[in-house]
Amino acid sequence: MEYGIAMRQRMGETWAILRQFSPGPLGPLERRRTISNKTLTLTPQVYKYLVRQGMREPDVLRNLREATSAQAGLAAGMQISPEQGAFMGMLASLMGARKTLEAGVFTGYSAAAVALALPDDGTVVACDISDKWSGLAREYWELAGVADKIDLRIAPAIQTMDALVDAGESGTFDFIFLDAEKTEYAAYYERALALLRPGGLVAIDNVLWNGSVADDTVIDTDTVAIRAFNEMVRHDDRVALSMVPIADGLTLAQKK
Ligand code: CA
Repeated sequence: MEYGIAMRQRMGETWAILRQFSPGPLGPLERRRTISNKTLTLTPQVYKYLVRQGMREPDVLRNLREATSAQAGLAAGMQISPEQGAFMGMLASLMGARKTLEAGVFTGYSAAAVALALPDDGTVVACDISDKWSGLAREYWELAGVADKIDLRIAPAIQTMDALVDAGESGTFDFIFLDAEKTEYAAYYERALALLRPGGLVAIDNVLWNGSVADDTVIDTDTVAIRAFNEMVRHDDRVALSMVPIADGLTLAQKK
C-alpha cells in the first residue's frame, strides 16, 4: 500500500519534471498525472483565485485591510491574510469557541475575524504591547459590530496571560492565537496551555517564517527562535499537532 502511494507520488513528480520540457495544454489524463499529493506551491495567479473563490471576506474586513495598507505601509505584512482570517473564524466556529485570546493585535484584523465567528456572549482578550494601531483597530471593531466582544489589554502578552492565570482563569479558554514576539513564542505557548481547556486549541502564526526555518544557514534571532519552538512543539505530547501551510505557516496544537 505504502509502496503504491510512493510510486504514484514519484510518477506525479516525474510528470511534473517532464512538463517543464514539454509545454502546451494539458490533456485530462496528463493533468491528472501531474497532480501531486504535496501542498501546492501557490503562484500569484492561483493565490488570487484562492482569495476570490475560497472565502467570503466581509466588506468591513476588506476595508480594514485596505486602511491598514494605506496607513501602515510595509508593516501591513503583520496583518493576517484573508484566507487565514476565514480559516481561523471557521476553526473558532467549529469548536463552538466562546472564550478566546490573541497575542499580537496590530490593526485588529485577526481579533475581528475570530470575534465575528463567536456567539454574542463570546470574548477575545486581545493583547498588544503597543497602542499605536489600537485606534484603527477599535474603529473597525465598531464597524464590524464586535467591539463589545473584544477586551484590548495594552501590556506584554506574557504579563496579561499570567494575570489571567493568577485570576483563576486557567483551563477556561477555548482558542488562543499567538502572533506577537517570535522570541517569546515558547513563553506564550506555556501560558496558553495553562489557560486552555482540554480540547482547546492554540494556533501559532508565522511558523514557516517565509521558509527560513527550513534553511539551516539562516541564523537570525527570530528564525532560530521559531525553529527551536517548532522543534519543541513537535515533541510535546501534551498536544495533538498539525502545522498548516496557510499564509506564513500556522501551527495548530490541541491540548489533550
Ligand atoms: Ca503574523
